[in-house]
Amino acid sequence: MSKDYIEVRGAEEHNLTDLDVRIPREEFTVVTGLSGSGKSSLAFETVYAEGQRRYIESLSAYARNFLGQMDKPQVESVEGLSPAISIDQKNAANNPRSTVGTVTELHDYLRLLYARIGNPHCPECGREVGEQSAQQMVRRILELPEGTRAKIAAPVVRDQKGAFEDLFADLQSRGYARVEVDGERYDLSFDDPDLDENYDHTIDVIVDRIEVSADERSRITDSVETALEEADGVIKLIVPDPPAEAAAELGGSTARSTGDLAGGEESAADGEDGAGDDAESADPDSTATAADRLVVEFSEELACTHCNIDFSEIETRSFSFNSPHGACPECEGIGSTKEVDEDLVVQDPSKPLTDVFEAWSYNRSYYRTRIDSVAAHFGVSVETPFEDLDPAVREQFLYGTDEQVVFERQTKNGVRRKEKRFEGVIPNLQRRHVETESQSTREHIEDYMAVTTCPACEGTRLKPQSRSVLVDGTPITAVNQLSIGDAREHFEGMEGTLSERDRTIAEEILKEIRARLGFMEEVGLEYLTLDREASTLSGGESQRIRLATQVGSGLVGVLYVLDEPSIGLHQRDNDRLLNTLEGLRDLGNTLLVVEHDEETMRRADSIIDMGPGPGKRGGEIVAQGDFEDVCEAPKSVTGDYLSGRKSVPVPEDRRERDGELAIRGARQHNLDDLDVAIPLGVFTAITGVSGSGKSTLMHDVLYKGLAREMNDNTSVDPGDHDAIEGIDAVETVRLIDQSPIGRTPRSNPATYTNVFDGIRELFAETKLAKQRGYEKGRFSFNVKGGRCEECGGQGTVTIEMNFLSDVHVPCEECGGDRYNDETLEVTYKGKTIADVLEMSVEEAHEFFESHEGLRRRLKLLLDVGLGYMRLGQPSTTLSGGEAQRVKLAEELGKRDSGDTLYLLDEPTTGLHKEDERKLIEVLHRLVDNGNSVVVIEHELDLVKNADHVIDLGPEGGDGGGELVAAGTPEEVAREEDSHTGRYLRDLLPAIDAEGPRSDRRKPAAAPGDD
Ligand SMILES: [Zn+2]
Ligand SMILES: [Zn+2]
Ligand SMILES: [Zn+2]
Repeated sequence: MSKDYIEVRGAEEHNLTDLDVRIPREEFTVVTGLSGSGKSSLAFETVYAEGQRRYIESLSAYARNFLGQMDKPQVESVEGLSPAISIDQKNAANNPRSTVGTVTELHDYLRLLYARIGNPHCPECGREVGEQSAQQMVRRILELPEGTRAKIAAPVVRDQKGAFEDLFADLQSRGYARVEVDGERYDLSFDDPDLDENYDHTIDVIVDRIEVSADERSRITDSVETALEEADGVIKLIVPDPPAEAAAELGGSTARSTGDLAGGEESAADGEDGAGDDAESADPDSTATAADRLVVEFSEELACTHCNIDFSEIETRSFSFNSPHGACPECEGIGSTKEVDEDLVVQDPSKPLTDVFEAWSYNRSYYRTRIDSVAAHFGVSVETPFEDLDPAVREQFLYGTDEQVVFERQTKNGVRRKEKRFEGVIPNLQRRHVETESQSTREHIEDYMAVTTCPACEGTRLKPQSRSVLVDGTPITAVNQLSIGDAREHFEGMEGTLSERDRTIAEEILKEIRARLGFMEEVGLEYLTLDREASTLSGGESQRIRLATQVGSGLVGVLYVLDEPSIGLHQRDNDRLLNTLEGLRDLGNTLLVVEHDEETMRRADSIIDMGPGPGKRGGEIVAQGDFEDVCEAPKSVTGDYLSGRKSVPVPEDRRERDGELAIRGARQHNLDDLDVAIPLGVFTAITGVSGSGKSTLMHDVLYKGLAREMNDNTSVDPGDHDAIEGIDAVETVRLIDQSPIGRTPRSNPATYTNVFDGIRELFAETKLAKQRGYEKGRFSFNVKGGRCEECGGQGTVTIEMNFLSDVHVPCEECGGDRYNDETLEVTYKGKTIADVLEMSVEEAHEFFESHEGLRRRLKLLLDVGLGYMRLGQPSTTLSGGEAQRVKLAEELGKRDSGDTLYLLDEPTTGLHKEDERKLIEVLHRLVDNGNSVVVIEHELDLVKNADHVIDLGPEGGDGGGELVAAGTPEEVAREEDSHTGRYLRDLLPAIDAEGPRSDRRKPAAAPGDD
């Protein structure tokens, strides 16, 4: 049954040309080739899609209902398929509730561990709490030395105001005579306690007085049960003359034991020097207690009998912030809240009271009345600059007055007077944000709100009780704050610290936890913290997380299809990642990996090289075999680069900087009070191992810092830093990131770059369009008129799959054309508007040869290596790298003023060496036009092209955040401490020192390049 190969026959998906290919099973195969040559069409859209389709077919009747409409890949047959799992870079998690811990399922194991062996503590006083049966209580009492005298009491009133006359009468009528009120003894037969009803009192009913002895077991049991009944599941054991070891005996037995032993001990301390904890010293019960008596409480329920807090049972869901049983009630498990921010409400304290509150317009009578009245109350003029006011007055304007204020308001019936406290500007905004029905008011107020860490849970997302359950002295929230590397150390050898019972329970769970953490380390993610929001991960990071999760699942016989797993990884960490991939294969799985990375190709069992060109000129297999086979293949561009026949050239000169931006004291995340200069007028690469702080420096500090300063954009909250100096030399700053260019299938490269605008004009100018009076809008699929109304111009209809992700199927009415028949009757050079949207950029560039404007824009898309892309390709299907390059093309098309600072994050994502070379040319062109370019990049051929390298590290996470080296690539390559520098050596002809890959061919200076 089982075959040695997955056999694909007659694949025609996209540009594939009747392709036949055999992919070896249980091996590691790389699919490579130029961008647009058909790699993804083969790996994802044919092999994976067919595997997935068959898998769903076997899954459930419900899912099968939809299969009739699900596109079958255009392929004659695929044989030898296994269940397929794709691990791409799409960041599936936009949900703020997903964290590294939850998506890796590690959090599930942690929850299990904490639910099974966690020791609950009281969040108020920190005492250990637990539950126990009457039998257990009796057993523990009997552990006291024989002959110890003790009283079994029912605590019926605890810190409550009242005189309790009825209670005393009732107790007496039921035969209870002895009570202790606030620690003082009374006999109700003779005494009549006279309590001040305005004070808190504590009343314990003495159920029995005993002498500990095994013979007394049944009497003690009766008394304990009676007391539990009287006091709803709680008893107090009062030992007037405790033997020395009593405290230890009663308390220290098992992990799950309870008892207010700490309280007893502290009571003793109180008697001596009056120093207990705060809660304690206010408690009349303990201060009145004789110095050396011991009071222990036992509870049937999980409760802190000291603070009188009941706990719900500890379950795994108690540790889930996605469940009301575990979530912090303040932020509902999000970890942050939106609050009105004082700095946003008062942005310029030199302004007078009339203008200083940004959200309050003095022109509106409601606000004017308040400002005038409060100013009059304090006897200050409304013209006083806010900063000149007494601090106490400023405080009361912002947060409310201590006293009542007279508000006077002019109405048509005369002056209305009202006396009340002023609520304060900030509480006013906060209240209205909650109460208002108006969306616009809410949005207006949100302009003055900042996202802050939830004060109740300090960002840990869990409710107090769940945060007070400890394993090995550590709450689960503290584990979540650890990096993956530190967490693995934390759990290393934890068994040794556990009791035997706990060890037996936890052994397997701990193994799973450590294994999963280990897998994540192997794929180079040890610097990520477990509570990191999954939505903030880069595409490469989230792909590697899913990879680690898959390794953890231990599946066998699966086909894994991966998309560029090397993205975002420093060369140093790439080796470990490749070990992981080989590990997956050795388990008996098949790996199909779309990749451009040379190292990955060297380690693969075989390579499928697609080409020879992009788009229509691709779709064939140019070479298939091992690394050497591809190197020797005559038509393979990949082989040209792998063998060194072609290479990305090293520039002959490095540019001189034209001024610089100086970042001072950057401290966001792991940045270590960093001072760093960003040179202007040159091409700069920021490098470093994953997690070293590159993105934090570029996105959070540099970009957001500039955006805030240059555009006065107060809604931007830059990462922590002291200053950025030299801003005047920069005209504009543009971040060209990998976020999608649009979230609906309605946007596409043509609409985003405005190419479509020009095309629609051409169609409106045709003879037929003019005859019929069709204007430009007729050819838009976003407005009514010319579009297909069945699908609203989308060309596809979305089918919600409930438990699976949505599926888009072609519209039955227009067959995916997006337009109605009348519109499609209009042609330009024989093509309909729908035909044009189907064209690749390259085809369109030829087709519109006589239109300079259109050609110029299309050329820009060609320049950034997107010639293969269809004009109408929905932006939702673009990869992060493609979206970034579309944005780059759009930037290139703008009229260039120079002095723009361009920031890019890993622009080589998804690029074949040949395409990477074109991209590098584009970046050089931007700099030659007088702009500055800063890129985060691992790809060494790009780094060696930079004028200036800023290398961060030396390691990731806490071990990073420092400037390891800065200078030209040659200067950085000479730094022994720089990981990047060492790897650069092998690529720089001017450097003699040996790098880690010096055994490979040495770079040719430039010959062989065209
Ligand atoms: Zn407590
Ligand atoms: Zn909270
Ligand atoms: Zn339609």
